[in-house]
Amino acid sequence: MIIMYLLLILVIFLLINAVLFKPVQHSVKEASPEALNEALIVKNFSRLIQHKTVSHLDSEKMDMKEFEAFQKSLETLYPKVHETCDRNFIGPTGILYKWKGKSSDKPIVLMSHYDVVPADEESWDRPPFSGEIKDGVIWGRGTIDTKITLLSIMESAEYLINQEFVPANDIYFSFAGDEEVSGPSAQAIVSHLKSKHVKPAMVLDEGGVIIEGIFPGVDKKTALIGLGEKGYLDLEVQFQSQGGHASAPPKKGITGQMGKLMQDLESKAMKSEFTPPVKELFNRLGRHSSFGYRLIFANMWLTKPLLNMLFTSQGGQMNALIRTTTAVTKLEGSKAFNVLPPNGKIGINARLLNKDTAKDTQAFVSSLIKGDHKINVVESREASPLSSHDSDSFRFLEKTILSLWPDAIVSPYLMIAGTDSRHFHDISDHVYRFAPIEITKEELSLIHSNNERMRVETVIKSVACYVKIIRGLS
Ligand SMILES: [Zn+2]
Repeated sequence: MIIMYLLLILVIFLLINAVLFKPVQHSVKEASPEALNEALIVKNFSRLIQHKTVSHLDSEKMDMKEFEAFQKSLETLYPKVHETCDRNFIGPTGILYKWKGKSSDKPIVLMSHYDVVPADEESWDRPPFSGEIKDGVIWGRGTIDTKITLLSIMESAEYLINQEFVPANDIYFSFAGDEEVSGPSAQAIVSHLKSKHVKPAMVLDEGGVIIEGIFPGVDKKTALIGLGEKGYLDLEVQFQSQGGHASAPPKKGITGQMGKLMQDLESKAMKSEFTPPVKELFNRLGRHSSFGYRLIFANMWLTKPLLNMLFTSQGGQMNALIRTTTAVTKLEGSKAFNVLPPNGKIGINARLLNKDTAKDTQAFVSSLIKGDHKINVVESREASPLSSHDSDSFRFLEKTILSLWPDAIVSPYLMIAGTDSRHFHDISDHVYRFAPIEITKEELSLIHSNNERMRVETVIKSVACYVKIIRGLS
């Protein structure tokens, strides 16, 4: 009987928590419209898309003429910016502008990159480097990732300088041309700023966007601001055997060992953790979800193991938010059908949660293997630190976003992909990853894929948002 009563009390407690788990009300004034020259913005965007600034792991293979032409186009399209701001070329492809403000106390850095990934022209409905504008849509590689942020930064600065606006604090524009291949330009820019003792009060780079339908039970638009990003690790696991003729195989060979490892990597996972950006994501979005989900997200102290189990069993995005993931991406065995492999290789790509180092992850993989093996680290970088969402700069971004998207939910999150901004944690505690572009899930899926494109209204609103950011800085 007592147990029944206790259970009843618990259920009532959980239900009350869910009922009280309501969205936080914001009273943000809607932004006044800006007199932007929309036709010119679209024309300029098309021009920037036409430069084939495809980066390559082997820098020799990069067509530097395209990169130089892009830099020249910036000069032509944005004369006021070039008259007003200092410009430095840093590293192989970095461009750093400094727009002098009234003060240098709280400088900010607006980041972007102007290189793009290759495009397989045959598979596109419109040519990827035409910058074609049709039915209110601009086509081309780099429209979303991420010439849009570069365009928006330059357009907003040109627009404001034309109005004789002077920013409250120094603003730096940091553009790399080798982000997609983890090139050295952004790092070189950070070293340069460090040598000048510049400590940015805020750094803003690509990352989250404004999107609908990404969270269970929430149908509102969500603006996601990345507080940090996961680390990256490529491991090559090597197994060795005697080789020999395939007509008389041994009872146990290295292929069995390799198979076992691959199976284990799917069934055994590294320990999960709900880091601050992910906890806050559930806290903010959970409040807007349907009652069933609110019951879960309002009572995380009790439901966390349940969520953990659910995310782990489902894999995908949610699982990637709470743990270091490992994916087998390469496999190598014998070169011939009738030869036993003398050595076998498994390539593993891991994405590291903040709590796990590359060493921890390597040790985890190694712990799954019984026999002889060797592990080579091919590429490795640790997860970035996490910036706080409880800061003036985060609240400033939130307010600015809400002034343009009053019905959106603004939330922090953790980026599972990489950006150049990871280098900036070295000189700033406030590094945020967000592009003010409102896109659909379908448009998001076009990044690094065929038919990347962007609606004109998305472009214009992105520029408007950067104008508000620059105006609103104090
Ligand atoms: Zn990008």
